[in-house]
Amino acid sequence: MNPFSTLGIRHDIVNAITELGFENPTPIQEQSIPVLLSGSNDFVGLAQTGTGKTAAFGLPLLELLDFEENYPQALILCPTRELCLQITSDLKNYSKNMKNVNVVAVYGGANISDQLRQIKRGVQIVVATPGRMLDIINRKAIDFTQVQYVVLDEADEMLNMGFQEDIDSILSTTPDDKKTWLFSATMPSEVRRIAKKYMTDPFELTMGTKNTGNVNIEHEYYIVKARDKYAAFKRIVDFNPEIFGIVFCRTKIETQEIAESLMKDGYNADALHGDLSQQQRDKVMKRYRDRSLQLLIATDVAARGIDVNDVTHVINYSLPDEIENYTHRSGRTGRAGKTGISIAIINSKELGKIRHIERTIGKQFTKAEIPSGFDVCEKQLFALIHKVHNVEVNEAQIEQYIPRIMDEFKDLDKEQIIKRFASLEFNSFLEYYSKAPDLNISGDDRGFERERGERGDRPDRGARSSAGYTRLFMNLGSVDDFTRGDMLGFICNNTKISGKSVGKIDLKGVFTFFEVEDSEVNKVIEGFKSVDFQGRSVRIEMAGDRDAGSERGGAGGGYRGNSPRREGGGGYRGGNSGGGGRREGASGGGGFRDFSGKRREDRGGSGSGGGRREGGDRRRRI
Ligand code: AMP
Repeated sequence: MNPFSTLGIRHDIVNAITELGFENPTPIQEQSIPVLLSGSNDFVGLAQTGTGKTAAFGLPLLELLDFEENYPQALILCPTRELCLQITSDLKNYSKNMKNVNVVAVYGGANISDQLRQIKRGVQIVVATPGRMLDIINRKAIDFTQVQYVVLDEADEMLNMGFQEDIDSILSTTPDDKKTWLFSATMPSEVRRIAKKYMTDPFELTMGTKNTGNVNIEHEYYIVKARDKYAAFKRIVDFNPEIFGIVFCRTKIETQEIAESLMKDGYNADALHGDLSQQQRDKVMKRYRDRSLQLLIATDVAARGIDVNDVTHVINYSLPDEIENYTHRSGRTGRAGKTGISIAIINSKELGKIRHIERTIGKQFTKAEIPSGFDVCEKQLFALIHKVHNVEVNEAQIEQYIPRIMDEFKDLDKEQIIKRFASLEFNSFLEYYSKAPDLNISGDDRGFERERGERGDRPDRGARSSAGYTRLFMNLGSVDDFTRGDMLGFICNNTKISGKSVGKIDLKGVFTFFEVEDSEVNKVIEGFKSVDFQGRSVRIEMAGDRDAGSERGGAGGGYRGNSPRREGGGGYRGGNSGGGGRREGASGGGGFRDFSGKRREDRGGSGSGGGRREGGDRRRRI
């Protein structure tokens, strides 16, 4: 008998979840489903994200509600729009063989009329973020007087985000005798208080040790000098060719700057933070989910509720101010039974913080060494070799070229050919790392070696403005569907300066650098002062200020370094992208191949004189 059937789940649902690949219940499902199915308990489940808790409460709800009736019977509150959509889609998947199951997702940043319409049509399960839910309640557009179950998912995160009052107001519209099921990754006193306030004698379930990080996650720290942080970070990334990671920074500015530097250095990275519009965030998240992005650089708030499986590494570029947030961050990896690594890059003064986190999560960190240049090259080489070994050969297409290829190689033996192919991809890494210094804190700190290594003390050419021009930053970019032509029009229309006064326009994903004649700078800054774009104010800054800030700033100076990847391509680590794709990027003089091998039109190719072009200049000699 199917183990879910043994737990009391009906056939229709078992069939649906079997299709989703659920063969055996996860520990939390095994222990909570029988309790929740009784329908008679309040419940507190201490569980990390990724443990299968959505099904742990979702399957019992599908068993307990009356789907012949069309009024709200269950309300699930969760902290973010992403999680809200995820839960809704999960519930729809579990119930796909059942009749008349109506689940509605209610969340901010989307058209409210659609949500109101769906509610009006009749719904049994409402999945909601607190702000929008309260808005709908205040419009008297929903009746919660017959709600039997309320689920508070990721309660700690909801409280972190300041939803306490909203939750109070929402719950006051539900009946006193409903059952409340609360799930939380951690149990700070605020969550305890909620549990006490809304529950009677709840059944408590703790998965693993209380406050303990997921057992599948290994925690590592690296100690480096503040100024070497970015170089060390890149080395860690280079040492993990198949990394699919989330990098946490402390501030929006740091997030943006690290992402910007990584993009310039040819990495598949982008930023996710609160200065982006919902639409921009959706686009970035979609690319990350699709694995078109390899590194997501995020703030804590923006990354809340991100539900992406298979994240291999969480990197704490800066440790969080709140220790609790370390648990949230690291919980983004090691999901659904997979293993993951959570890395902290710290300076020696932050060791105390690591010890504090160790006590909080009940797990030890391992002190790791920044890999040497040699280690990185070796790792990259063998990643390449494995890729060559496993590449799918399109026999039909390649066949016609084989005779000519064989002819070209007729004077080389097998070993020589292999050496050449390996060198083709590998030389740039070798060259880049040939004199790479030891970045570990106790290591050799000879400044002269840095002159040419990862530190790259000069901002790259793309970051400097041409004579007579000033380089400005704008917080809109290609993800806002601007082309360079659109941007030129946008600048001229809003500032009334002539198109001739605008120099290079370097259109990036979520921002743009552009040049204007020195004499027109004030007009541009003034002109954009009160300009809105799709509800967001347009921000103009002197790029020079940003560059100077970033060199000085806590993010670690000098992260504008050159990189072995700055070759017009996304580097050869692209998960599915074969060499051919990247080669196309390279020959296009600044084209860019993303992680999945699709051409990303929004980067580089059309930009003139930007970082990508410069990457082209630095293209390795073959
Ligand atoms: P959750 O903690 O609910 O976000 O679940 C994390 C991931 O685990 C999701 O991708 C689920 O689809 C998956 N999952 C949940 N339960 C099971 C199960 N019993 N077997 C396999 N995968 C599961």
